Amino acid sequence: MLHHLKKLTERPKWTAYEKLITEAIENGYHIMGVYDFWRHRNSFIGNDKMLVLRHDIDNSVNDAYHMFLLEKELGVKSTFYFRWKTVSPVLIAELQDEGFEVGFHHEPTTLSLPFLLAQCTYVETFSEYSYQESFIKANQQQLKNDVSQFQHIFGNINSIVAHGHRVTTDMGISNSDVVNPEILKELGVISANDLMKDNAYRFIAITDQDSVYGIWNKESNSHNPHNLVARGKNIVLLTHPSHWGKNFFKRLATVKYHKWFGVIT
Ligand SMILES: [Zn+2]
Repeated sequence: MLHHLKKLTERPKWTAYEKLITEAIENGYHIMGVYDFWRHRNSFIGNDKMLVLRHDIDNSVNDAYHMFLLEKELGVKSTFYFRWKTVSPVLIAELQDEGFEVGFHHEPTTLSLPFLLAQCTYVETFSEYSYQESFIKANQQQLKNDVSQFQHIFGNINSIVAHGHRVTTDMGISNSDVVNPEILKELGVISANDLMKDNAYRFIAITDQDSVYGIWNKESNSHNPHNLVARGKNIVLLTHPSHWGKNFFKRLATVKYHKWFGVIT
């Protein structure tokens, strides 16, 4: 209880994020966005000290904007993944102007949920239904439409990544289930998750989702990014900007949100 209260009252953590990136810079890390790594991956085989930065903008565009300004000041580049509900033409234009990467945080199952629920008389039947080929196909089509619409509005993108939505995963399917290599090829994009599939780079995935409140687990040496950076390990760092800019009231709202609707990743 005390632990939760302590987390709840913590201040925004921009300085903690800045500290980590500064440590990586000082230790000679090559810091880059997802597609920047992917494009040059052949020249990176055998390298250490690689840090790939990925941000999933689940909720707050303001915090994403703060993250962008901070990284711009530090002189590093990263990839920002937007959901439809967080797309910001202003931020996207600025990111593109400054050489940052813009990606799509896809969630076809979330978007098609009202339609799908209308097909099922009982929610209990949904998880069975969700594995049917027709369901997957409908969501793949939704994904294709979403990516092409996103590109139509905001210009070309090179990578996408699935948004984990509790409502649909509870029902038996996740947004990442919809993606396969053929679809990615057809869309001409990569999935940020692909980086973890190639052992040649020995990436360690770190996420600020280790705790609901958005702080990595400091007790665990193997997943403490400060330790990993000190040891020169290759890291894919997933952060949610809203976890770093929270104040007390925002945190309180998140606790309620998590309680009622589940954890968003
Ligand atoms: Zn997400």
